Amino acid sequence: MKAVLDHIGIAVKDIGAAIAFYRDALGLEIEPPEQVASDHVRVHFVPVGESKLELLEPTTAESTVARYLEKRGPGLHHITLRVDDIDAALAHLTSRGARLIDQQPRPGAEGSLVAFVHPAASQGVLIELKQAASPPAASHASSLTPSSPERTEGILRHTLGDLELISLSDGYFRLDGGSMFGIVPKALWDKRAPADDRNRIRLAMRPLVVRGTRTMIIDAGLGDKQDEKFRDIYGVDRRRNLDHTLAEAGLSIDDIDIVLATHLHFDHAGGFTIRDRSGRLRPRFPRAQYIVRRGEWEDATHPNARTRASYLLDNYVPLAEAGVLQMVDDDQTIMPGVKVRRTGGHTAHHQMVLIESGGRAAAFVADLMPTTAHAADAWIMGFDVYPLDTLTAKQAFAREAVEKNILVFFEHDPSLAAGYIREQDGRRSIVRAF
Ligand SMILES: [Zn+2]
Ligand SMILES: [Zn+2]
Repeated sequence: MKAVLDHIGIAVKDIGAAIAFYRDALGLEIEPPEQVASDHVRVHFVPVGESKLELLEPTTAESTVARYLEKRGPGLHHITLRVDDIDAALAHLTSRGARLIDQQPRPGAEGSLVAFVHPAASQGVLIELKQAASPPAASHASSLTPSSPERTEGILRHTLGDLELISLSDGYFRLDGGSMFGIVPKALWDKRAPADDRNRIRLAMRPLVVRGTRTMIIDAGLGDKQDEKFRDIYGVDRRRNLDHTLAEAGLSIDDIDIVLATHLHFDHAGGFTIRDRSGRLRPRFPRAQYIVRRGEWEDATHPNARTRASYLLDNYVPLAEAGVLQMVDDDQTIMPGVKVRRTGGHTAHHQMVLIESGGRAAAFVADLMPTTAHAADAWIMGFDVYPLDTLTAKQAFAREAVEKNILVFFEHDPSLAAGYIREQDGRRSIVRAF
C-alpha cells in the first residue's frame, strides 16, 4: 500500500493563541477555515511543504475534539496518511488484523473520504486514512445536461421573492425499476430510466434548503448509518453527499433551524439522525426542531409487512427521545412562505411543500412525482400504498403547477433538480429550470 503524509492534526483549545504562534510567530500561512459538519469541528490548514498542519477547533461540546481537549488538553491529535483507494486500504488492514475505528470511509474535509485506524493498532497514535476528492465536477450549468446523468452535480441556488432555495445532494441510490413504475411496462420505462444488470434504476436524493426568516431543510437523504449489505442492495453512492453540499452552500449542520419531513422513508429521513463514535444515535442537526406529520409518525412507528422495509426506526425514534420532534396534524404554514400540504397516495400522510414569495411559487413534491418520468398520470410507483390517491393528487397538482407556473423540485430525478410542468394536447412534459 502506498501512503503519503497528508497532514498532522493538532487539537486546539484557543484558536487565537494558535494563530498567534503558527501564523504570527512561525510566519506560516493559514488557509481560510472549513467546517466539517459531521465532526463538529472547524479546521484551519497550515501548508508546510508537501504536507500540512491541521488545526482542529471544536464547534460544539459534542465534538470528539472537544472531548479530546477535555481529557488531554491541546496537542497532537492524529496523523493523516493519504492513499489512492481507501476501500482497498481498509480491506487490506482488516485482512492483516488491524483494529479499525471506521469500517467504512466517511466524508472528511475538502470533499475527501476518511477512515480512522484505532490507536491500539498503531502504537498509540491515531491514524487517519484519506482518499482525496476526485477532480471537481464541471460548472453548475453544464452539470445538468440530461445526456450525462452519471456526472456529479454541484448545488443549485435560486431566489424566490424573499426566500433563497438551495438544492443539495445526498448522492445516489438504486431501486428496482419495476417497483418504481408500477403498472408501466419495462419496454416503456427502460427508455426513460435505463435499468442496470440487477434491474435497478439510478435515483438521486436532493434535500432542499429554504432560507428565509429561518433556515429550513426539507428531507435529508439517506445518511450514513447503513451497513455494507444495505449499500449493496440499494447501490448507494454517497461519495458526494449532504455534508459536502451543505459545506458548498456555506452552511453547516448548526445553521439548520427546522428539518421538515415529507414522510419518513429511509431515503428521506435516513439523514435525520447520526451515529456518533460511541455508537449512540442522535439528531444530525443539533439545533433543529424536526417537523413530522402525526399520521406519518404513527404509520412509521407501526410498520406492517408491506411498509417495514422502508421505515427504519433508527432514522426517527431518536428524535422523539431527544425531545426535538414537533408534530403537525393539518396543512399549515411552517415558516413565512412555506406551507405543507398532504397528498396521501405514496403513504397515507405523505406531504408536499409549497413555497411562495414575491408572487412566485415553487413546490417540493417528494414522492408524489419522484422523477420527471413520473409526471404522466399512470406512471405511479408500485411502492405507493394508495396509488389512486397519488393519481388524484398528481392530476390536481399538475393543473395548479401549469396555471401558476410553479417551479417544481424533483427529489429523486438523477439528472434534473427542478423544472416547470407543461401540458399540450393532453401530454405532460417538463421544461428544465436551470
Ligand atoms: Zn417514499
Ligand atoms: Zn423516496
